[in-house]
Amino acid sequence: MNENIPEALRTIVEQLQKFPGLGPKSALRCALFLLDLPERDVKTLGTNIASLRDILFKCTHCGTLSDTEICSLCSDTGRDDTLLCIVREWDSFLHIENAGFYKGRYLVLTPSESTSGVHLDSSDIQRLRTALERRKVEEVILGLGTTLEAENTITSLSHLIKKEYPHIAITRLAQGIPLGAEVKFMDKETLRQSMRYRHSLE
Ligand SMILES: [Zn+2]
Repeated sequence: MNENIPEALRTIVEQLQKFPGLGPKSALRCALFLLDLPERDVKTLGTNIASLRDILFKCTHCGTLSDTEICSLCSDTGRDDTLLCIVREWDSFLHIENAGFYKGRYLVLTPSESTSGVHLDSSDIQRLRTALERRKVEEVILGLGTTLEAENTITSLSHLIKKEYPHIAITRLAQGIPLGAEVKFMDKETLRQSMRYRHSLE
């Protein structure tokens, strides 16, 4: 980093550029933005960030972020107890939920740093077992994506469910060509998955 930048500012920029999506230039822009904010706003922001870990924790049932022990979705008696969708990250849960078409339950896995191999947190396994025993789940939907890690997690989870809860159906999100896209622009893997998960015309 540029030696002309004062050390205090340089420290903040170095911290900010660890944020997802922030490179050195945008981190510097954010730091300068913070510098221009009224003092009270910066202090409030700092306090809010520092207290976030104390206020938010994982819902005991589904693992999503919540400010109550049981999140509002798990407390909602109007949800479909027969469906359980497992997602890898909290923002995936948010994405599906905001889309508004899914009315079942969720299980949010603990994010893992590993890029290959299976890393299933023991608390996630415990939450899964509790959910499958406590609710009337008939189908587990694996909404985990198509990365190598996701594929390994899918294999591991489906093995566990088939072995311990053979009466429960396991599905995964269909993969393939997005709406509005053309076959000729598909990458090989997407095309392969599209062919593999093809379905009959009704
Ligand atoms: Zn919950």
